[in-house]
Amino acid sequence: MGSDLETSRKVIDVAGSFRGVYAAVGVHPHEVKGVDNKTLPALASMASHSRVVAVGEIGLDYYRNNSPHKVQRHWFREQVRLAIKAGKPVIVHCRDAGEDVHAVLAEEKVWRVGGVVHCFTGDAGLARKLLALDLHLGAAGPIAFEDGGALREAFAQVPIERILVETDSPYLAPPPMRGKRNEPALAYQVAEALAGIHGLSVGEVARVTSSNARRLFGIGPAPKAGALAYPHQGRLYLNITNRCQNACYFCGLLSDRVFKGHDLTLPAEPDQEPGAQAILDAAGDPSGYEEVVFSGFGEPTLRLDVLAEVARGLRERGARRIRLVTNGLGGRSAGRDILGELRGLFDAVSVSLQAATSEAYAKVCKTQGVADPYPSVKDFIRGARICFPEVEATAVAMPGIDLAACEKVAREELGVPFRARPYVLTD
Ligand code: SF4
Repeated sequence: MGSDLETSRKVIDVAGSFRGVYAAVGVHPHEVKGVDNKTLPALASMASHSRVVAVGEIGLDYYRNNSPHKVQRHWFREQVRLAIKAGKPVIVHCRDAGEDVHAVLAEEKVWRVGGVVHCFTGDAGLARKLLALDLHLGAAGPIAFEDGGALREAFAQVPIERILVETDSPYLAPPPMRGKRNEPALAYQVAEALAGIHGLSVGEVARVTSSNARRLFGIGPAPKAGALAYPHQGRLYLNITNRCQNACYFCGLLSDRVFKGHDLTLPAEPDQEPGAQAILDAAGDPSGYEEVVFSGFGEPTLRLDVLAEVARGLRERGARRIRLVTNGLGGRSAGRDILGELRGLFDAVSVSLQAATSEAYAKVCKTQGVADPYPSVKDFIRGARICFPEVEATAVAMPGIDLAACEKVAREELGVPFRARPYVLTD
């Protein structure tokens, strides 16, 4: 990142000299007192360079106060506008200035380009407000400090999909190098601290946060399409089809199929979808997972034969618990009652109820090729109660979905427990 015009020019040179290095250009709040009318056009020209992936480091610093607050706010706003015009995300410095940073970013509608508040050291309240602007938060050395408990608590509230790993080198080296010169290699310690906070492996943190950086800045290699199996928090998830009767308005199936750093894109044509053996091979040994879950970007019961064969194969290989996540419309698509064919294969079934009325279901799920689907979903749940040891109805917590009404239908009408799911599709 540049911190003034001169260093911005330098970082472009460096980025141009090394593969895998990219630049951000901007004037740091410490330096904005020296900005004049020629600065913005020069920055705009640099921002259009192909190796420049962001505008930064820009922001507000009310701790060191190297530039007057009013001047800082003016140039911060101008540089956010410049970033939006250039179509590049922002990298924001924020020190003791959370309220004003949030205000400028909200007023300028920063979500049009996105960005990251780098080396975030605020509290959970500020984190929530920044996430609501569609921003990412940068985790640096302080989350690994012995006295970083409050910051770790704040980061525990931030979805891993919205975190970037960084070092802020040469400053703020994490233990065991605290107090010494920081460097990019120590990003590992930051990832390790995040892994502890979120109950993930360091590998998972690396994969997801690299994917976040790729989405935000357009850098780094894309994951290979066609992931059939992936572990997450002690579970193994299986993605066996991308076909679905629904087009739920929140579903990643319809836009970005990269999930937790895995590209879940599968061939659209049924005869090109992977066979049961390929899925079992991808799953490997299932005995080490607390649960194997059929849940990808698509409806597993549209592949009944493959679903059954894979579930049987998993059991033979020692799977401890197998769960099916379904929209409950498989029987309608097959034109017959499918519960008998699935009986005995799963320890648990999670059915996406998603609505409390047919009208609401139609609005949220936008089912195609199945007339009046909602009563069929409820019938599937009633039948599933008899066939499987555990059945639950779920709904994703999203605007427009009445969770209380869904829960009432699940518990009082259908006699099953209800679970509101956060907006992720793995569980
Ligand atoms: S039912 Fe599931 S896979 Fe199908 S569109 Fe809805 S969220 Fe996506």
